Amino acid sequence: PPRIGIIGAGIAGLAAAIRLRLEGAHVEVFEAGETAGGKLGELVLGEYRFGIGPSLLTMPEYIDELFELAGEVPGEHFRYQRLDTVCRYAWEDGTRLDARADPQAFAEEVERVLGVPAQRVLATLDHGREKYDLTGRTFLEKSLHTPGTWLTSEVGHALTRLHRLDLTRTLHEVHQRDLGEPHLVQLFDRFATYNGSNPYRAPGLLSMIAHFEHGADAGAFVPEGGMPAIAQTLYGLASRLGVIFHFETPVAEILTRKAGRRPRATGLRLANDREVLFDRIVSNMDVFFTHERLLPHAPAPKRVLAREKSTSALIFYWGVDRSFPELDVHNIFFSEDYPGEFEALEAGTLCDDPTVYVSISARYDRRAAPAGGENWFVMINAPFAAPEQDWPALIECTRERVIQKLERMLGRGLRDAIVEEAVFDPTTIEARTLSHRGALYGTSSNDRMAAFMRHPNYSRHVDGLYFCGGSVHPGGGLPLCLLSARIMTEVMARREPLPHTFDAK
Ligand code: FAD
Repeated sequence: PPRIGIIGAGIAGLAAAIRLRLEGAHVEVFEAGETAGGKLGELVLGEYRFGIGPSLLTMPEYIDELFELAGEVPGEHFRYQRLDTVCRYAWEDGTRLDARADPQAFAEEVERVLGVPAQRVLATLDHGREKYDLTGRTFLEKSLHTPGTWLTSEVGHALTRLHRLDLTRTLHEVHQRDLGEPHLVQLFDRFATYNGSNPYRAPGLLSMIAHFEHGADAGAFVPEGGMPAIAQTLYGLASRLGVIFHFETPVAEILTRKAGRRPRATGLRLANDREVLFDRIVSNMDVFFTHERLLPHAPAPKRVLAREKSTSALIFYWGVDRSFPELDVHNIFFSEDYPGEFEALEAGTLCDDPTVYVSISARYDRRAAPAGGENWFVMINAPFAAPEQDWPALIECTRERVIQKLERMLGRGLRDAIVEEAVFDPTTIEARTLSHRGALYGTSSNDRMAAFMRHPNYSRHVDGLYFCGGSVHPGGGLPLCLLSARIMTEVMARREPLPHTFDAK
């Protein structure tokens, strides 16, 4: 069978390994870190466990799909539950709102707390679903770099409904128009941050994101064993199928040879100088660093690689020695000046009053904290890393502001309850996962052309080289990374089909 080498065991690298193995290839994965998962890894501080990155799971069906493809029953290896309350929102003026997953319950709660008619909220969610129905299958589930994608009835239908996509308005303008009430506009605007964008610049089309959380057949889910368990369960599946993993084995170069018009990938040179030959290479490493570090002599798609990055994050992982029953799994403490928060991010810095997200996985995974305690993942949006930023100074003043804000809004002390702590800033995120500039979601979606300007799932410069993961099409976030592996496998099957002779030995 063809031999395929995969660089990186992030969620997309794992999904790619499973799919390509099932297509009949011999698959080996080279991962620089000690375990699988990349951004989906785990951090242990004393008796407290934290997911390093993702805390919100949407569309778990893309994970189930991998077990089903392998002929396994998903629920036997990977279990999850839908949350009734997706997020608990708090504003400085004392307003509190529990966003229920059920659209009707959510809309009624909005009407009760904010006075916006439930019908208007439901219509807004419906409009988000319509946008997703019109564009989702084309833009998120298919390669945009294959002519066949554009010759479908779905694209034809979407073209007749262009006026419904809000392409000429920003996300914020759409929410102002449709919802009006300031708290609710802010709540819906926040969905732009789900792919690291700015609601005051991102196109109105992104209002479909709300539908992923509040759609009748969608929602927020919590996996048994916490978020890092997702990576471990996929690693288990890949291993059962016969994928070979090499941990603590960074790749130093993609080997190529001259072949016709373009060079062809022939294997990998590892950091220990060993060379391993492959017929095809898949990079799950950030596409920018793949080019800069592993292919220094090959031509690069400079315009695509220079695209604006998504935002990054400043994260405080706090082991807290007491319980805060007033908090839920996901909690948001909004900034009083949301435009100012995004202006600061665009200027490469942090504002004085950032929106604070607190996620407590111990609410559903008791192993994550000792009895009576809680594991707080406290995140604020941060600009992508740039040389002029002074992170130690920014962390020091922001930590103080965050503690003061939480104490003020919770009406009780927090400072003394923090018994374990770690802090990640954009430079830490870049160093740990080799994500260019610490971007959480690859390139930003701040302009209308963003979807078209992401790197394709194959290389136009090196034959036999493919890409998956948050830095390439269709973008970052766990569901899209899983889709990137699916699209990459389909693209590979069209360009150089695999034999389809799966043999698990
Ligand atoms: P990554 O996770 O980036 O993994 C790439 C892997 O490649 C790493 O393991 C790295 O070690 C390895 N690697 C890199 N270079 C080499 C090399 N030269 N040799 C060998 N191995 C190499 N998404 C959500 O859906 N919900 C959320 O709530 C959410 N929150 C987030 C919060 C944070 C703080 C972060 C950082 C991300 C968040 N995301 C969230 C985004 C999500 O985590 C990512 O989109 C996704 O995990 C990226 O997966 P990936 O497959 O692109 O690879």
